[in-house]
Amino acid sequence: MNAGAGSAVVAGAGVIGTWHALELLRAGFAVDHLEAETEPTGASVRNFGLVWVSGRRSGPELDAALRSRRRWEEIGEGVPGIGFRPCGSLTVAVGEDERSVMEAFARHPDAAARAIVLLEPDEVRACNPAVRGEVSAALLCRLDATVEPRRVLPALRAHLADRYPQRYRFHDRRCVVGTERAALVDATGTRWAADLAVVAPGAAYDRLCHSSALAGALRRVRLQMLETGPLGRPALTTALADADTLRYYPAYEVAPLDRLGPQHPVAAEHHLQLLLVQRPDGGLTIGDTHAYDEPFDFAVTETPMTELLQRAERILGTPLPPVRRRWEGVYAQCIDQDVCLRAQIDERVWLVTGPGGRGMTCAPAIAADTLHAVGIEAAA
Ligand SMILES: Cc1cc2nc3c(=O)[nH]c(=O)nc-3n(C[C@H](O)[C@H](O)[C@H](O)COP(=O)(O)OP(=O)(O)OC[C@H]3O[C@@H](n4cnc5c(N)ncnc54)[C@H](O)[C@@H]3O)c2cc1C
Repeated sequence: MNAGAGSAVVAGAGVIGTWHALELLRAGFAVDHLEAETEPTGASVRNFGLVWVSGRRSGPELDAALRSRRRWEEIGEGVPGIGFRPCGSLTVAVGEDERSVMEAFARHPDAAARAIVLLEPDEVRACNPAVRGEVSAALLCRLDATVEPRRVLPALRAHLADRYPQRYRFHDRRCVVGTERAALVDATGTRWAADLAVVAPGAAYDRLCHSSALAGALRRVRLQMLETGPLGRPALTTALADADTLRYYPAYEVAPLDRLGPQHPVAAEHHLQLLLVQRPDGGLTIGDTHAYDEPFDFAVTETPMTELLQRAERILGTPLPPVRRRWEGVYAQCIDQDVCLRAQIDERVWLVTGPGGRGMTCAPAIAADTLHAVGIEAAA
């Protein structure tokens, strides 16, 4: 397909759809961008905003994360509204068992591939003076970064409208209900014909004609999150994670994880790990839990969130400000180890979803790889 003279329609204004719109515009396409809601409220605005290189599986997933990290930084320079910060992360060990797992990982070549090094407790405090609690070591990954999930999507759309006023059109309240050859049909009956159509519906992957057959390759995962009020100084200089993240992120499969021993019962029941990001106003985004079996509970449960708050207090060595928001989020995840599901569901109509817990991180590379898959030469 020749770039420069084509038209595209992209459905879904989460981070995956938005990065597809961006890359198609850069490649010269005119893009109609459709969104079912008045403003996206899916996983892309409910996450930590972590551009998380450290935990990625070696191979295509790490490669996608590294390419994406570069693209986030590039776009962050031109679009400060996305709040890109190359702040890095500390994965903190509490106690000797956790430390010994991290020490072993830090000696493995996979640590170097992610620029991960082990810090001693005094080095941890020098790196992030807000960490004043029980710490026996930490893994520092300088490649990890943060964006502001509530601001990224509107900021990117404003940038696209400004940069490509003749070629970018955003249309809210346009829920796509069907596909035809090189066209999408929305719930008003409008047919959006184009040279290429991309549907990025997030967790709503099985609510569209022709997409339900792919549902067996995907599952939904529900997470619980919260945000505290602003924490006083010193400000956190990095994102934080606890040692339970080693159990979930595939990068650490090469570490001697058995030394961690059994997981805390509340953590095991809720597939819980501590991730913590400070927002620019000082608030702390804290999560998360994971539920895999539908139907999901519609209620937010208190016990795992109390456990997460206590863990954060233990590491920071200070009581936390009151919680000001709680929410849940659901993402779509490929059941196999692919970075995402990318499938042609009609002639010149592609479905792209299922990035799981790495969608915010890997969206730029996922979009670039879609262009490559359909034969479009991406812009340099
Ligand atoms: C709580 C939580 C924390 C997370 N933390 C991180 C993190 O820190 N870092 C990271 O890398 N990843 C993280 N993730 C994962 C990441 O958020 C997701 O992988 C990513 O946001 C998925 O983006 P998406 O565009 O596919 O889906 P969504 O963000 O859900 O967007 C899909 C959009 O499509 C629209 N839509 C759906 N159907 C239609 C239709 N038929 N027609 C038109 N529009 C439609 C929806 O309204 C929605 O706006 C987290 C996820 C959650 C839930």
